[in-house]
Amino acid sequence: MSRALAILKEVFGYHAFRGTQAEIIDHVADGGDCLVLMPTGGGKSLCYQIPALLRQQAGLGVGVVVSPLIALMQDQVAALTEAGVRAAVLNSTLSSSEASAVERDLLAGRVDVLYVAPERLMTPRFLDLLDRTRVGLFAIDEAHCVSQWGHDFRPEYIQLSVLHERFPNVPRIALTATADALTRNEIIERLALDDARVFISSFDRPNIRYRIVEKDNARQQLLAFIKAEHMNGDGGHDSGIVYCLSRKKVEDTAQWLTSHGINALGYHAGMDAQVRQHHQARFREEEGIVMVATIAFGMGIDKPDVRFVAHLDLPKSMEGYYQETGRAGRDGLPANAWMAYGLGDVVQQKRMIDESEADEAHKRVSSSKLDALLGLCETAGCRRVRILAYFEESAGPCGNCDTCLEPPATWDGTREAQMALSCVYRTAQASRVHFGSTHLIDVLRGNASEKIRQWSHDKVSTFGIGKDLSVAEWHAIFRQLIAHGLLVIDHGGHGALLLGDPARAVLKGEQSVTLRRQVSKPGKSGERAGRGGPRTDHTATMDADTLSNWEALRAWRTSTAKSHGVPAYVIFHDATLAELARSAPASLDELAEVPGIGASKLERYGEEILEALREV
Ligand code: ADP
Ligand code: ZN
Repeated sequence: MSRALAILKEVFGYHAFRGTQAEIIDHVADGGDCLVLMPTGGGKSLCYQIPALLRQQAGLGVGVVVSPLIALMQDQVAALTEAGVRAAVLNSTLSSSEASAVERDLLAGRVDVLYVAPERLMTPRFLDLLDRTRVGLFAIDEAHCVSQWGHDFRPEYIQLSVLHERFPNVPRIALTATADALTRNEIIERLALDDARVFISSFDRPNIRYRIVEKDNARQQLLAFIKAEHMNGDGGHDSGIVYCLSRKKVEDTAQWLTSHGINALGYHAGMDAQVRQHHQARFREEEGIVMVATIAFGMGIDKPDVRFVAHLDLPKSMEGYYQETGRAGRDGLPANAWMAYGLGDVVQQKRMIDESEADEAHKRVSSSKLDALLGLCETAGCRRVRILAYFEESAGPCGNCDTCLEPPATWDGTREAQMALSCVYRTAQASRVHFGSTHLIDVLRGNASEKIRQWSHDKVSTFGIGKDLSVAEWHAIFRQLIAHGLLVIDHGGHGALLLGDPARAVLKGEQSVTLRRQVSKPGKSGERAGRGGPRTDHTATMDADTLSNWEALRAWRTSTAKSHGVPAYVIFHDATLAELARSAPASLDELAEVPGIGASKLERYGEEILEALREV
């Protein structure tokens, strides 16, 4: 057995490496540089933690990990310490005497893994300290922070190229979950990783179930979804994140959910910093909190047991959507990505693009990113295939998204498309301006509103030709026509619709249009799609004995976590706890076989766990 595998078992309690982990670990432990692109939850941490241990054991020195977020560092250090690794952190939260103690340990070779914030690392004092320390490797976590165009740019990251100049013989491993080629090349260039090996994993997150429903009453739909799929046996619910576009909506939604029995907190950049921090800490440390947030709640959420991410508003791009939904299910257990969307979202995003200060080229890119996301929302095919294709990865239908589980019926919508398109054409011709979908639908349905009379649109030839369809059905058609590029949202922010280039062929009858039938009944979609698929509730499949064990173990974990001052998942992940409940080990030997229980945790908690199980 290789040393790396032995450490995986002994320290972390896992039985096998995942994907490219083994290869990466060998490469870095041998002193090679590399860039690792792996999705969230893929297991990046072990890719530097195990080489750090291997190199420290070989007398080569400490593994120094650069990480941008304090909360994230503290969690990692707590988890490593629980696993018996000599881990430490140097950041602004330490008092100077605590910092000196860490520095002394470092110089004496008593630290295996040191986490440090980039601004700390770059101080002359710290670089000088490193000169006097044996350093076995540098790991640069969240390496996309060097990318100036990326979403998490950190100026300090740019200076990290100094590491290579100053410590040319120390191997460096840079890691990120941001996949696109632009970011990748920027990381390589800025960190001088030209000769590094690049390890790219599949970006698929098979445990996440994607679902996009038509927005009706989004809050009610969300509540129905949570109630149908995320309640636990004990009346509590799973941890989840709900993303909203505006600060006001965050506050309203959090309040509304709370009044409906959901343990919800809000988070946005306009909140009092202390309140915000308090909410984040509670989300991290407690179980079963739903965080309603703007995208300000982002990087550094490494809580492994977030069971769902819901979007009440459309994100800006596929990258945004994938990153946000990726915060669900880091522990590999089933999780949900759920979104409610409507045409209003698209118009709103489009307006934000138009009204932004960006130049024309940038606006065009933003628009096409939005279009890609719209395509995802309106596809009749597998969501995952679409998402992965966007990231240039090919895959077959996944069987774990709404369209795979309940393939939407399609219908020949050529005639209806022609009606809508010619309505756009006729109204614009009559009035010399363009109109939005609400007005166009009124015209089609022959609804003689004031605005219609004002523009004399009851005189155009398309007035009333579409009265057989409901407003909702027309909305669905308009959305799909936009997704297909037959209609284009005008610049100027009012949601006016213009004919797209391919519209001509449809109007001339040269091309047919296939549309998906809207199946989802508002509020019901959650329940329906949940049927027959994997449940995210651990307790759903447990028999009575297992359930009692689970409850006893959870109580034990809660009190242990409290007394150690760490989040529950630092003690054990849910997956480990569920396995303990199921297998109910009666001896330390049996206990050692459970994945997630390494030597240190066995020694520290073994007896207590056996005791807790005996008392059930
Ligand atoms: P990332 O940083 O890539 O988002 P993490 O390093 O936090 O992912 O790992 C995600 C989860 O997977 C963690 O709970 C970790 O303990 C677990 N994990 C990582 N590698 C393995 C493995 N080889 N076997 C079992 N679990 C693993
Ligand atoms: Zn699918």
